[in-house]
Amino acid sequence: MRATRAVIRLANFQHNIRELRRHMESQRGGEAPQICVAVKADGYGHGILRCAEAALEAGASSLGVAAVSEGAMLRDAGIREPILLFGIARKGELEELAELGLSPFVADETYIRLLDEAAASAGVKLNVHLKVDTGMGRIGCRPDEAPRLASQIQHAKRLRLAGTATHFPVADEDDSSFTHEQIELFLRTVKHIREAGTDPGVVHAANSGAIIGYPDAWADMVRPGISVYGYYPSADQKRTLDLRPVMELVSEIVFVKRVAPDTPISYGCTYRTPQETVIATIPAGYGDGFNRLLSSTGRVLIDGKTYPIVGRVCMDQFMVDIGAKPECCVGSTVTLFGPDPAGPNAEELAELCSTIPYEILTGITARVPRIYLD
Ligand SMILES: *Cc1c(COP(=O)(O)O)cnc(C)c1O
Repeated sequence: MRATRAVIRLANFQHNIRELRRHMESQRGGEAPQICVAVKADGYGHGILRCAEAALEAGASSLGVAAVSEGAMLRDAGIREPILLFGIARKGELEELAELGLSPFVADETYIRLLDEAAASAGVKLNVHLKVDTGMGRIGCRPDEAPRLASQIQHAKRLRLAGTATHFPVADEDDSSFTHEQIELFLRTVKHIREAGTDPGVVHAANSGAIIGYPDAWADMVRPGISVYGYYPSADQKRTLDLRPVMELVSEIVFVKRVAPDTPISYGCTYRTPQETVIATIPAGYGDGFNRLLSSTGRVLIDGKTYPIVGRVCMDQFMVDIGAKPECCVGSTVTLFGPDPAGPNAEELAELCSTIPYEILTGITARVPRIYLD
């Protein structure tokens, strides 16, 4: 196997789910809401199947995906629990969606009618969740349309309103009045659905940011993603939970060479060694999802010590300055990011790349084998 691999600690993943439940139970002083774990985008890069199975084992009651194809993978593996489809399916996918028994978010009249027809031709009854847009500006009906759409679903022969949901764009910002207003608007909308004579089903809204910072948003069910993979959604959020990174991206030194002062390193010759030193080559690069913006700015962890990345990150390799008297050698394990507090984690990489940990994790490409521990 290639030296570069993503070690996935499922024990940390399950710990994070239990930690979210513990947090909600202690804040609520009672039973925690149900948990729908987002496993979209190949389980945020960790592998959709193993994460889905581990999530259900740790007490998740349902799973969240973005595409019908992702739901198909879970069903093909024998998973029978509810699978929420966060995205909108195309017309040509609706029959498959119905046969798979996915539970789609719906937000307009036409889509509801098409789903009812697809469910009829597949001979099934489908659970759907009405998605209300309270400020995300993405999929979702206007709050004033919600009671009418809820009633349309209730009267559709082949559909059942299993839930009513919304989504937050800034719940990872501490104490945002925008989020508080969204929560109020959402709960008022749910009340209007009830007053119009329709059971809204399971009421849910909270992503990781709202699970951590907005107990009023928990309702009947929460939908964590990034937090179960071990990261806070943003650097702003208070670190009140014990979240443990699940993925460790590791490689090893495959080549070392002693070089003279002023030796150029990598494409563009943008880096020159300030003095005599030893340069190690690591067989990982942006072709593995190790971002090129880490060129001459990132660091790696080798035997408990950190070393700087020097020169540009190439597609398949990058270089590290291990010093004139190196303590590591060919074959030494290199951690590119992971849970070890001494080394970089995906949040540090995200900051260096002006992005978010989500993109660092989902960006690890298919070339990198996922190795599961536990
Ligand atoms: C991805 C997603 C989530 C999870 O969000 P995190 O910020 O990763 O916790 C929840 N709900 C919906 C609709 C999503 O698309």
